[in-house]
Amino acid sequence: MQLTYILELLKPTKRKENIFLNNIVEVVKNRQAIAAKLKTGEINLSSADFKELNLPSAVKNQNIREVKALYKQFLKSNSKKENIEFKENQPICYNNQNYKIDHHIISIPLYTSKCKRFAFPVKQTERFEDLQQHIDSGCKLGKASLFYKRGKWYFAVTIKIADKKTTNSNLMGIDIGLRQLAVASVKTPQGKEINRQFYNGKQAGFIRKKYRMLRKKLGQSKKIKAIKNINDKEQRRITDLNHKISRQLINLAVQEKVGSIIMENLENIRNTIKSLNRADRNIHSWTFYQLQQFIEYKAELAGMKVEYINPKYTSQSCSRCAKVKKSNRKANLYSCECGNHIHSDLNASRNIANKYLEQQSA
Ligand SMILES: [Zn+2]
Repeated sequence: MQLTYILELLKPTKRKENIFLNNIVEVVKNRQAIAAKLKTGEINLSSADFKELNLPSAVKNQNIREVKALYKQFLKSNSKKENIEFKENQPICYNNQNYKIDHHIISIPLYTSKCKRFAFPVKQTERFEDLQQHIDSGCKLGKASLFYKRGKWYFAVTIKIADKKTTNSNLMGIDIGLRQLAVASVKTPQGKEINRQFYNGKQAGFIRKKYRMLRKKLGQSKKIKAIKNINDKEQRRITDLNHKISRQLINLAVQEKVGSIIMENLENIRNTIKSLNRADRNIHSWTFYQLQQFIEYKAELAGMKVEYINPKYTSQSCSRCAKVKKSNRKANLYSCECGNHIHSDLNASRNIANKYLEQQSA
């Protein structure tokens, strides 16, 4: 499997930004020159063919690879254009030999008056932590590119991850919801719970409240751009939180030798949040959906299976005696006549795991 991580650089100084921009201008020239040579039938190109351009030869060589691939596509497309056209903001691309990531510092060659290596710190986000974990576990880095978008600089890194399949047989049922963002129940194939974990939604709640207030303040003055900025910031913070929680869940699953992760089909989540107003509902269902996606791909990276079950009755039925009674659930507490008195979200996560086990034995 191949994954791409887009890392944001900490704001570079004006001087460094100018170096980036100067190199990009040369990349555009280089790419145009390569495409022109390919058109005349020259195929055996090397960085030495573009001596006049002020770029590290590593970048020139990567440009040759990139443009060759693009040129092939261009020929296939039967375009009426003369040749490939390159926009002004081409990325500066590197193969895996030519850049380094050391903790949160990336280092790349760029051209100033000569070819020099530069180091840049990246923002330490949860996404970056994920990448770091892959690197630490020996995954192979692929190509990378430096580019800018809306005034910010990014470094996109691809990483190859070996497909693996675990033979572990424990399972983890995960309930996703408002009060507790996620509750996990880890069970053996015989149905015995061996671990459980709560990931509360407080932090997500704080994030939502904070940005809702900011939006309200701006609402009257209708500063659309400012509101969009607030929305973007909120999304980034929730995304970071979802990365963090999904990583903790998968770490627990690995530790407990889990082979299958069981979650509910999202429809149910939409139903449980019916009571909220539309704006809140949208952000919640988006948050939950994203969390499930993150859990799913991280589980697959760890070689686990991910299964979805029908959510019917998972919150109403008793995880001990299987009796279905809606009134047994009162907010945080699930309380059954059989003596089962537990957190209602833990009850749900146990039911999710149980339901899967029943399906398996049916
Ligand atoms: Zn019961």
